[in-house]
Amino acid sequence: MNSFSRAQDQDDVIEEQVRTDRLHQLFRQSFSAIFGSYLAAVMLCWLCWDRFDHPVMQVWLMVLAGSSLLRLKMFMDWFRSPDSERTPQRWERRYWVTLMLSAGIWGIGAFALMPHDDRVSQVLVILFAVGMSVSAVSCYSAYRYMTLGAMALVLLPCTLWLLFQPSSMQVGVAIAVLVFSSFVVSATRKLSDALEKAFRLTRQMERAHTISTLAAQTDELTGLMNRHAFFEQARLLYAQCRQSQQPLCALILDMDHFKDVNDTYGHQAGDDVLRQVGGVISASFRQADVYGRLGGEEFGVLLANTSLENARDTAEQLIAAIAGLKLEPVRGLTASLGVASTQGRDLDLHGLMNSADKALYRAKAQGRNQVVVAR
Ligand code: GH3
Ligand code: MG
Ligand code: MG
Repeated sequence: MNSFSRAQDQDDVIEEQVRTDRLHQLFRQSFSAIFGSYLAAVMLCWLCWDRFDHPVMQVWLMVLAGSSLLRLKMFMDWFRSPDSERTPQRWERRYWVTLMLSAGIWGIGAFALMPHDDRVSQVLVILFAVGMSVSAVSCYSAYRYMTLGAMALVLLPCTLWLLFQPSSMQVGVAIAVLVFSSFVVSATRKLSDALEKAFRLTRQMERAHTISTLAAQTDELTGLMNRHAFFEQARLLYAQCRQSQQPLCALILDMDHFKDVNDTYGHQAGDDVLRQVGGVISASFRQADVYGRLGGEEFGVLLANTSLENARDTAEQLIAAIAGLKLEPVRGLTASLGVASTQGRDLDLHGLMNSADKALYRAKAQGRNQVVVAR
């Protein structure tokens, strides 16, 4: 994969995260809207008790209660579902459908209730509808088109009807509502853009932080942990093993006569060898083991809950794997290994590494290309 398509993939990941962040924001912001919209309907009915048609009012409140319960059920399902299932693919459509249903019932119901010959109740209905649509901005701003859809469904039935009435007062109210709404519409764009930008920046910063942390811990040549990260992880593993009274083994590997490899084949070939040795090491150990490049042509490995015999076998296998590396034109690669364990010995991390280092020294002194276990 080239770097362009990798960057493209990472951008896609960020876009998906931003979409998920917006969804979370939507659910966080809009829970109270379920009760708010129903309460507004009840209050409007109460204010216009003598002016509205009672059967229509009852049907409206009942249907509205049904759609509110549907939304409440959706929120309950959301709160109960694990984070991994809170994805836009799963929830956006459901949210859209229930919201548009509720807003449609509110707007069309209010229009059906509004007496065509009573200006006071018309103004009251419009007042509530405007209030509802303004609160839509505060609840659904993470999704601009959702806000606009909900506003239109609540406001337009009554407003459009008023716009085509003969009285200039009714037309004036409708025009005023449309003018106010146009300001609100432009505010929704700014608000949702700002939110999206904030989510994107946060995710980009998180990514940059992850990349820089990883770079600070990684050895550039081999891709293994560098010395600093190795000892950081080593301390954690040591404490863990001590607490659970498990033995901890340390392996230190040093390439034999590596200076000669550089002198004979060149520094570039030496680098290639180190990369391959890094590959052998990372293929040989488990995720829970700690391994890294300690510096130069020296590598360290810590094996938790492993007997000294098993650690020794692993070290022998490592030597065999390195001897088997085919890297034209380099030949005769060998390595020496020192192995030590905390089993039956009271060693701190420093002592354990020292002990492995001494064993390595003995392996070198005894002719190289071998494993020596510290006793
Ligand atoms: P011994 O068997 O005693 O370990 O001999 P040696 O030559 O491996 O040991 P010495 O410590 O004398 O030399 C280590 C060599 O490793 C010297 C240095 O040029 C080489 N080296 C260290 N880091 C790198 C590296 O990143 N790339 C390359 N190509 N060579 C490196
Ligand atoms: Mg060496
Ligand atoms: Mg060395």
